[in-house]
Amino acid sequence: MHLKDFLFSVANFVILFGALFLITRKMIVRMFKERKEKIIHELEESARAEENSLAIKTQVKLEQEQARQQEEDLLANTRQKVEENSAASAESSQEQANVLRRNAQERERQLRAIMHGEVSAQVLRQVAEETAKALQKDEFAPQRIALVDEFIRKTREAVSARPSDILTMMDGKKLAVTVTGAQPLTQEQLMALRQTLNEIFISACKEAEGDAPACSEVIDLCSETDESLVAGVRLRVGDTVYDGSVARRLERMVRDAEHEGKDGRPVLDGVRQAIGSADNSLDIYQVGQVISVSDGICRVAGLADVMAGEMVELKGDLRGMVMDLDKDNVGVVLLGQFAGIQEGDIVRRTGHIIEVPVGYGMSGRVVDALGRPLDGKGPIVPDGYRAVESPAPSVLHRQGVTVPLQTGIKAIDALVPIGRGQRELIIGDRQTGKTAIALDAIVNQKGKDVLCIYVAIGQKESTVANVVRRLTELGAMDYTTVVCASASEPAPMLYIAPYAGAAIGEFFMYQGRDVLIVYDDLSKQAAAYREISLLLQRPPGREAYPGDVFYLHSRLLERAARLDAASGGGSMTALPIIETQAGDISAYIPTNVISITDGQIFLETGLFHSGIRPAINVGLSVSRVGGAAQMPAMKQVAGRLRTDLAQYRELASFAQFGSELDAATQSTLCRGQHMTELLKQNQFAAMSVEDQVIAIFAANEGYADDVELQDMARFEREVVAHVKMAMPELVDVICEGKKIPADMLDTLRQTLKSFKESF
Ligand code: ATP
Ligand code: MG
Repeated sequence: MHLKDFLFSVANFVILFGALFLITRKMIVRMFKERKEKIIHELEESARAEENSLAIKTQVKLEQEQARQQEEDLLANTRQKVEENSAASAESSQEQANVLRRNAQERERQLRAIMHGEVSAQVLRQVAEETAKALQKDEFAPQRIALVDEFIRKTREAVSARPSDILTMMDGKKLAVTVTGAQPLTQEQLMALRQTLNEIFISACKEAEGDAPACSEVIDLCSETDESLVAGVRLRVGDTVYDGSVARRLERMVRDAEHEGKDGRPVLDGVRQAIGSADNSLDIYQVGQVISVSDGICRVAGLADVMAGEMVELKGDLRGMVMDLDKDNVGVVLLGQFAGIQEGDIVRRTGHIIEVPVGYGMSGRVVDALGRPLDGKGPIVPDGYRAVESPAPSVLHRQGVTVPLQTGIKAIDALVPIGRGQRELIIGDRQTGKTAIALDAIVNQKGKDVLCIYVAIGQKESTVANVVRRLTELGAMDYTTVVCASASEPAPMLYIAPYAGAAIGEFFMYQGRDVLIVYDDLSKQAAAYREISLLLQRPPGREAYPGDVFYLHSRLLERAARLDAASGGGSMTALPIIETQAGDISAYIPTNVISITDGQIFLETGLFHSGIRPAINVGLSVSRVGGAAQMPAMKQVAGRLRTDLAQYRELASFAQFGSELDAATQSTLCRGQHMTELLKQNQFAAMSVEDQVIAIFAANEGYADDVELQDMARFEREVVAHVKMAMPELVDVICEGKKIPADMLDTLRQTLKSFKESF
């Protein structure tokens, strides 16, 4: 029985084992087969890849060959052309070659300078890094400790209570003080610091409030370690940072040296200067932190003592202007591209109200709203800086407008004369020649000792480039500064551009010079200000403009003035431009600016399209103070012209309907037609005052009444030439700013009569 069982179990085992063996063998065989197939496949693949790479190699070779061939062809071609050309005009090509060579040399020199500057700056930065590393080594440990002790000694003089700190203490709160060391501060050092700070702030609080705060501890000291400081300590009280770290000192030195190196001076000089002027004093500044940023506005926590209108520095080169002061944060408008700004970024105070460089170096330049050059003509060396927003001269320092500012445009000099120090608004729909008038006025100042500023607000960059090109061609750029805040720039730049222009102009005015400033145009500035105000969540008023939009323009235009002799006698004449919609001068912004200025030149689309250019509407244009400044001779001949012309326009619109007109009406119409024709003037065709007087006198006295309208231009040209030739003394009288005497007027009439007979 046992044996049988045993045999049975052995048989079972053998069968099981056999089955297992068979299955495993099959599996192994299959595995090996798969492996083999895979390897074969991979071998095939690699062979194919090799083939491919060979093909690519040959392709590359082929293409290289082709390129070489092309190059040779081109070279041969050029050589041939050069030979042909040189055979034809050897001299001119020689000259061209010279110019090219000179240009190349100049370019090389510039590149070298740039490379030199950049490379040196890089080296400088590396040196600073290496220095920092070296200072972190153990052998400098005693010096590092000494540095901390020195900082604690210095705290007593350097640290002072800011108004915001005193406010915090008066609220019964403790001042948050953080001290960050490169290495942990010792217990004694911390104790000493705590004691000193407590003493300083308690005494400051006593001075401010009169009695000491109840507790003997006013600060809440917290100590941190940050190895990146290299050595030394950084102390932060509230929002004020007292930085005595070596890292900061090195950083400042590198930055100063780089900055010095940028003005074209070798960087090494900059380094020398930076090291020479490096002092051991603490770097004290106030900081805040961005808590939100959107649409060019950011809210910043901290910056507790910041002033309204102060410039602040953000990451990179970005500047901002403080516009809103709230209880626990401030609203900052960003003056540039703000894509890189994030929540938590540090914002630094600069401590001064936003300002622009001013001086004679600005003439002939194109700058942005912060006075930074845009024309690629290198850095501007300013004579100083001036706050963008500065108060207008007071009543006591002004005098009346008595000196004319000739625009060279007949219709303006005769009908709406402008005096130096006046503010004359140019208003009209789009494309009615507003800019044209302003540019003519600028061009006409050539040789008249008037410095000009053209502020382009919210215009296309191509338009501004055209203006600059025209001014350059006409030689007006020498005495003109163009301030440009183009349409692509953020709204705050458009908002401050006119103020920046005014600041640049004021510098000249206070130097006793005469200035002409054009704001083209203020409607865009108002729109930019509306945008900022709405983003700052100020309540919108009429047409969604903020309540202080009148103040926006009044404080700007009040800065135009004529100073009295005691203040230097300078003047700033302002020509603001406003764009109307469908000729509506009773809209919000137009009425505001009309009420601020001393008169307006109203341009009309209808007139412009009927060929009357400049398209001045005589009835609605006025100059309230310019009359006193008009040249006496001009006043004599053009005294009643404005009312006559306005009357003619009225009459003309009636006369369209009736056919039978009495002789008097007909003669008024005829005179008006000729006068209107005479007052037409092309762009950039300025006329001198004596020419204007002669032409207007002739037309006004009826000598042109029977001239064909299309001959008026020729009549004007010839009559002026004839009279100037026949009566040179008349020109002298007009130019000297005298009235024309009666006998001379009689002679003039005689001359005109004889001229008329020959015309
Ligand atoms: P915008 O609203 O676009 O600023 P604007 O009112 O400033 O326009 P301008 O650009 O000065 O108008 O002029 C519009 C066009 O009319 C220009 O092409 C200009 O050359 C032309 N123009 C202006 N004044 C005259 C003139 N006196 N004679 C001939 N053409 C003129
Ligand atoms: Mg324009």
